Amino acid sequence: MTSTTNTYRGRFAPSPTGPLHKGSLVAAVASYLEAKKYNGQWLVRMEDVDELRNVKGAADSILRSIEAFGFEWDEDILYQTQRKEAYAEALQQLKEQNLIYPCTCSRKSLKAKAASGEITSGQLGVIYPGFCTNNNFSNFKTDEYAIRIKVLEQKICFDDELLGANSQNLKADSGDFIIRRRDALFAYQLAVVVDDAFQNITHVVRGVDLLDSTVRQLYLQQCLKYNQLQYAHLPLIVHANGDKLSKQTGAQSIGDKADIPLLVECLEFLGQNPPKELERDSLNNVWCWAMENWELNKINSAQD
Ligand SMILES: [Zn+2]
Repeated sequence: MTSTTNTYRGRFAPSPTGPLHKGSLVAAVASYLEAKKYNGQWLVRMEDVDELRNVKGAADSILRSIEAFGFEWDEDILYQTQRKEAYAEALQQLKEQNLIYPCTCSRKSLKAKAASGEITSGQLGVIYPGFCTNNNFSNFKTDEYAIRIKVLEQKICFDDELLGANSQNLKADSGDFIIRRRDALFAYQLAVVVDDAFQNITHVVRGVDLLDSTVRQLYLQQCLKYNQLQYAHLPLIVHANGDKLSKQTGAQSIGDKADIPLLVECLEFLGQNPPKELERDSLNNVWCWAMENWELNKINSAQD
C-alpha cells in the first residue's frame, strides 16, 4: 500500500451546544470508519471556540455518548477554549504578512447597507467590500474591533471526495472575512484551521453544512503555510419538512446507552446497507461488519 495508508489522520469535531444527536452521530460514524479503513488515527476535538453558544455539560454528554457507542479515539481530546495562545500566534503570523486589519463596522451597519443596496449579499452573507482595509492596528488604543483577513480576487478550487469539483472566489463571494470577532473571541474558521494543522489532520469527513466554509479554510491554510487537507462532505439528515436535523430544530439527543439499531440506521443512511443476516445482538458485531465493508463512495448511491 502507499504511504498514505499510515499517515491518514481524521477527526470528529462536535460543538458542545447540546447533546449528541443522530446528525452528528452520522458524521462520527463516517469519519471513524474512513480513518479505520486507512489504518489511520481518529481524533476528537471539542469545537467550543464560540463560548457564548456552549452549553454546560454538553461536551461531557457528547463524549459519554460516543464512548457508549464503542468509538475509540486516539490521543487526548483537544478543547478549543484551551488553544487561545495558538490562535493568537497564528494571528500574529498573519499580521506580520500584512494580511489582516482591524474592522470597526458593526454587523448592524453592514446589514443596513445591504438592505439599502449599498453593498451586496451572496451565499455566504454580506459581501464585505473592504471599508476598513486601510486601518492600521497602531491607531487603535483598545482592541474593540473585529479582525479581517484580506482575500484575493481569485478562484480557489478543491476536489471533494464525495461532491467532486467545488470552488469559490472569496473576493466576490464573501469579501475579507472575520478571523477574530469584535467580542475578542477567535472565529471558528481560524480555530479549525490552526487545530487541524496542530493535530496533523489529513482528511476531513463532515456534514455538507460546512461545505461553504471549506474554501475559507483552504485559504487560511495557504496563508499560514500549512498543508492542505482532503475533504468529504456528507449529506445531512433532514426532518420530514426538509429542515436540517440539528439541536436547533429539536433533534432527539442520543443519551449514553449503546443503541445498536441506531448505529445500523446510520450505516444505512450512509449507503452501507448491512445484510439481514448480520447478528445485531452486539455493537461489536456491527462495528466489525462495518469496518470490513465500509466504502465512502457508497454514500453517493444512497442519496440518488
Ligand atoms: Zn470595517
